[in-house]
Amino acid sequence: MSAAACIFCKIIKGEIPSMKIFESEKTFAFLDIGPLSKGHSLIIPKHHGAKLHDIPDDQLTEILAVTKKIAVAQNIQDYNVLQNNGRIAHQVVDHVHFHLIPKPNETEGLGVGWPTK
Ligand code: IMP
Repeated sequence: MSAAACIFCKIIKGEIPSMKIFESEKTFAFLDIGPLSKGHSLIIPKHHGAKLHDIPDDQLTEILAVTKKIAVAQNIQDYNVLQNNGRIAHQVVDHVHFHLIPKPNETEGLGVGWPTK
């Protein structure tokens, strides 16, 4: 799929609305439209590529740092970071994305902070 037809490229460009959490020169993060838990977010490279091996190393390095930053800002202690490659591995959107899926403590709830930079 070309970048022009990619739904996540359109989100980055603001052509499709999203609940943006974070943006830098290389990275974009927003809330998942079908959250598995409150605060489920997606962290993506601005560089279009379907699979992990399509993305330059420096963009991947920043994505993990941004994922950590969001987890810290949310003040979550328990969470999954997940990244699917290919249909057999359950990838639906062909633009690399890391899921950050909080596992809230049911007695304490979930923090709602987001990184500011
Ligand atoms: P995958 O199965 O790893 O490819 O996950 C794709 C994710 O993208 C799913 O969790 C969807 O809910 C999410 N998603 C698809 N379209 C949108 C959108 O327009 N905004 C936000 N999240 C989306």
